[in-house]
Amino acid sequence: MARITLAELQPLMEQFAGGGTVLSCYADLGVREGFRPNWEAPFKAGADALWKAVGEDGRARRELTENLSAVRRALEAAAGTARWTAVFSATERGFFRAIPLDVPVGTELVLDRSPYLVPLLGAIHRRREYLAVHTDTHRGRLYAVTPAAARLLAAVEGDVPKHQHSAGERYGYGQATIARHREERVTQYHKELAREVEKAWGANGFAGIVLIGEHEVLEHFRAELPPRLAARVIHTMPGAWTDEPAQTEDEVRSVGAELFDEQEAEVAPEFWDLLRQGKAVTGKEAVLSALQSGRIGAAGHGYLVLGPDSREVVGRCAACRTLSAEPFGACPRCQTPSVPGNLWEEVLLTALQHGITIRFVSDPRKLDPYGGAVAVLPKLAPKEKGV
Ligand SMILES: [Zn+2]
Repeated sequence: MARITLAELQPLMEQFAGGGTVLSCYADLGVREGFRPNWEAPFKAGADALWKAVGEDGRARRELTENLSAVRRALEAAAGTARWTAVFSATERGFFRAIPLDVPVGTELVLDRSPYLVPLLGAIHRRREYLAVHTDTHRGRLYAVTPAAARLLAAVEGDVPKHQHSAGERYGYGQATIARHREERVTQYHKELAREVEKAWGANGFAGIVLIGEHEVLEHFRAELPPRLAARVIHTMPGAWTDEPAQTEDEVRSVGAELFDEQEAEVAPEFWDLLRQGKAVTGKEAVLSALQSGRIGAAGHGYLVLGPDSREVVGRCAACRTLSAEPFGACPRCQTPSVPGNLWEEVLLTALQHGITIRFVSDPRKLDPYGGAVAVLPKLAPKEKGV
């Protein structure tokens, strides 16, 4: 998947009104060796729960049958092309959308009058891509890596003469010259590779650099990287050069998945201190007001920290989209009546529109005492390293 833009979300946003229901499905399309796809069992359990929920209403049952089979077909078709996916089906409205995801999501089915976007918006916020560089002394490949896949960005080949092994000849002036000449060429090649890395880094918002190769070669190469990029090397791993990029891609992808998990689990340690000291903004209403007043801000380094979706309701102004804690009240800004929406969905969307960083804490107990949502204002948030 490429980065999903707000414009691409628009067709889904338009499904917040309409006849009938929308079936939203998130699925883990992975397959554990030799077994059924990961999504099958939770999909079946989810479908059973929905059958119970719709009861005996013939029309609702027909609609659910159609939506479930449309979604199931999409999941079967997506096998092997995507690692995770989001699928939305509303047959009554003739609406269908499948979006491949490269961020882990669990399998779940949600039936509602509007699409359930929390996991999708979360995936957009959580998305991280790494730049992996596989190199030896004279050739290299650059990959963009997500937990789902490694994509080849560029290949670089240097003009480096082979090692000279002339048996019987003693190490002499000639050989020293050849060795020096070779070393210069290796350096030239590493400089060229560093330029490619710089180009790729500038064009994408990578979360870090992974270097793959022999230790000595990597140390040599790292010295050619500009210091600001060398500082972004978050992982190095051994890896012999291979003419089979597929093999490297597989290894790199699994390292990408591990790094992703590590970084995702990491909330700035200062955050917990601020929280304990009562310096962070906590609770639904206070967080909403901080979010909408621009006090968190993209330019500053404030951020939001969210626990799992609490399925709480928020009021969204039908005219200006202003959010308020009161789902059926009048909009605090323009007095238009509000309509109820999902609190997490609206917060994620607003943060996305304003470029506000969100960190996620998956253990619900950790943020529960704070209403599940916390805002750290810029004056308290230290500038994150390298951002
Ligand atoms: Zn309003």
